[in-house]
Amino acid sequence: MNYNKKTVKDIDVKGKKVLLRCDFNVPQDKDTLAITDDKRIRAALPTIQYLLDQGAAVIACSHLGKPKNGPEDKFSLAPVAARLGELLGREVVMAKDVVGPDATAKASALQPGQILLLENTRFEKGETKNDPELAKAMASMAQVYVSDAFGAVHRAHASTAGVAAYLPAVSGFLIEKELEIMGGALANPKRPLVAILGGSKVSSKIGVINHLLDIADTIIIGGGMAYTFAKAQGGSVGTSLLESDWLDYCNDMIAKAKEKGVALLLPEDNLCAAEFSADAVPVLHSAMTIPDDMMGMDIGPKTIEAYAAAVKNAGTVIWNGPMGVFEFPSFAEGTRAVAKALAETDAITIIGGGDSAAAVAQLGFADKMTHISTGGGASLEFLEGKELPGVACLLDK
Ligand code: ADP
Ligand code: MG
Repeated sequence: MNYNKKTVKDIDVKGKKVLLRCDFNVPQDKDTLAITDDKRIRAALPTIQYLLDQGAAVIACSHLGKPKNGPEDKFSLAPVAARLGELLGREVVMAKDVVGPDATAKASALQPGQILLLENTRFEKGETKNDPELAKAMASMAQVYVSDAFGAVHRAHASTAGVAAYLPAVSGFLIEKELEIMGGALANPKRPLVAILGGSKVSSKIGVINHLLDIADTIIIGGGMAYTFAKAQGGSVGTSLLESDWLDYCNDMIAKAKEKGVALLLPEDNLCAAEFSADAVPVLHSAMTIPDDMMGMDIGPKTIEAYAAAVKNAGTVIWNGPMGVFEFPSFAEGTRAVAKALAETDAITIIGGGDSAAAVAQLGFADKMTHISTGGGASLEFLEGKELPGVACLLDK
């Protein structure tokens, strides 16, 4: 996959109408619809501001939630328009539809330096089907397409990929950064490349493990998935998270790592609990001999030491998946210690995955990382080495 894509800086937008796909899929209060976290709106500001400063007229669009049956008030982007207006300090015109009479009239009247927000793209059924008619209708309102919705690039929808068939298509600054740092680390990493993989299940990370095993020098396994590896190696894992269908796979991966000369590190010790609860008393056990009535909840101190040592001299570290149940303070130490080790290396450090990003932020290390990928599902598919339709559709540099 080619990550070297044209950006807003490579195209002239002065006096042009720019269709800008944003990721305004913000969390909202269920009753009042108030936006509970405007991080995604703030993240879009640099690209929007740049386009406006260049003299473009910006037609922004996004999906919000999962409306299934056309327009519904509770999925309206109106609260986003209000917040975006406050942040930009200028009026954001809100359209009542996506490609209907209101949107087309407002788009056609839009002047350079003005911004219009279309309604939720998923109010159009053709959006998720990547319907060419819808894509064409959206494209016909503008002369340039800019995508900055990294969180949606793994989807081939009309507004994330389809429109690029009808307009010159480039990335905004958010996608540019994702491609530069994460794409760079995958395509041409500064070595040694250390991949840290954790989270809950082996089965949800097969694609990531397969791909990183091909490119990494060291693979570190933690989190819930470690117990399926331990069991596969003949360990007893008590009541820990276990996926019995994936035992052979784990052994295959261990063999493949050996064959390729990739160091694959598994936990030596675990903090365990009698029950899955925040109040459970942590008890330390050796990773291969967890008692029948205990479950592994975090990596232990010996493991922490080994993992911290492994990232110390890395050139690049890619981390996906917490080392333990970090949501419970008694079992957050493994994740915290690994985050701290990343914060202290000179390596390029990249965090991918929704819960991993949340963990690093919650533990206070967010500003110590080189890059925290903003897309949950999209960053996982990126790590799997899959072609991302919302990236592939952009013009090559
Ligand atoms: P990401 O969203 O970053 O890809 P995942 O969704 O794979 O990460 O995993 C995150 C979840 O894994 C967290 O909610 C965490 O509590 C859970 N987890 C980590 N270690 C364990 C464990 N030992 N047992 C059960 N769940 C775990
Ligand atoms: Mg997750």
